[in-house]
Amino acid sequence: MTSAPAPRENVGRIPAYVPGKPPAPRPGLTTYKLSSNENPYPPLPGVVEAASRVVAEMNRYPDMGAVALYDALAARFGVGVGNLATATGSVALIYQLLQAFCDPGDEVVYAWRSFEAYPIAVTAAAATSVQVPVTVTGEHDLDAMAAAITDRTKVAIVCTPNNPTGPSVTHAALLDFLAKVPPHVLVVVDEAYVEFVRMDDPVDGLALQRQLPNVVVTRTFSKAYGLANLRVGYAVAEEPVAAALRAVSLPFGVSGVAQAAAVASLAAESELLERVDALVAERTRVRDGLTSIGWAIPEAQGNFVWFPLGERTLDFAAACQEVGVTVRPFAGDGARVSIGETEANDRILEVAKGFLG
Ligand code: PMP
Repeated sequence: MTSAPAPRENVGRIPAYVPGKPPAPRPGLTTYKLSSNENPYPPLPGVVEAASRVVAEMNRYPDMGAVALYDALAARFGVGVGNLATATGSVALIYQLLQAFCDPGDEVVYAWRSFEAYPIAVTAAAATSVQVPVTVTGEHDLDAMAAAITDRTKVAIVCTPNNPTGPSVTHAALLDFLAKVPPHVLVVVDEAYVEFVRMDDPVDGLALQRQLPNVVVTRTFSKAYGLANLRVGYAVAEEPVAAALRAVSLPFGVSGVAQAAAVASLAAESELLERVDALVAERTRVRDGLTSIGWAIPEAQGNFVWFPLGERTLDFAAACQEVGVTVRPFAGDGARVSIGETEANDRILEVAKGFLG
């Protein structure tokens, strides 16, 4: 028997992506999923309606150029259509960026712990991860990241707010970092949670992108806009960079249903952003509740909070599961808990009382 051809060597080294699990059903108990930073609100009726119209045409391919979506994004953000790339989630844009810009062995600098898809995407591109530890309060160490950049560095990723630890960098700090980054390095500003940021001097990624040709901003419809299941992300970049992202994209990647829902969501943005305000208020309630009983929770700028539990992480996740709430444990490090329904958040506050000190 001959064996199947072997994939490229790097493929065997791709770490597994561990998705947030759905909660196990519990008779008599409403269960909640706070493990994937999803939006707990159901889609708006108008968005469902727009998407449904395209469901009725599912025998047809989508508009490959996603013209309506590109036009809506360009109008909303004041950028040229040529500065945009859409894809099946912003995670796909990160894959495409690495595929388009990295040769095997090129280095990609990013903070760690951060979004767990980064090491997967870097290894899939046969590039090399250079992980720079976040500070004890879960913040990017931008000085250390700048110092980690070498001639081999092709891409640096700044995840702000940082998933899973929570803090954002300031605009001034990012500008300072960008001033130290040589022009051959593309800097991805991953703004998956940008709509949830409430801080002094927040990053204006689009302004940075206008100023600096090596900046790429990635964003998503999965979080604030509540379209995680439909998979739509977008990048704003210099025209040649955006063109490269589009060139390596899968043909017809973003479905027509997803395009229609994204366009309808931009039209209904004010209503969706009111929901974001409510989630931010709930985030403040949860974080304040935790700090008032003695928890040291990092700054939380996304739709989630980080519990730095170290060795107690899995016990905490099990205790949450026990009360019907699934959270996201990173063994030996901490647990990330999305801001969800009030009842779910209350249960977390209750469990957290038992894990002090
Ligand atoms: N970036 C960050 C920091 C994220 O947390 C996520 C989702 N968890 C993504 C990108 C990707 O989101 P999506 O592919 O759904 O757009």
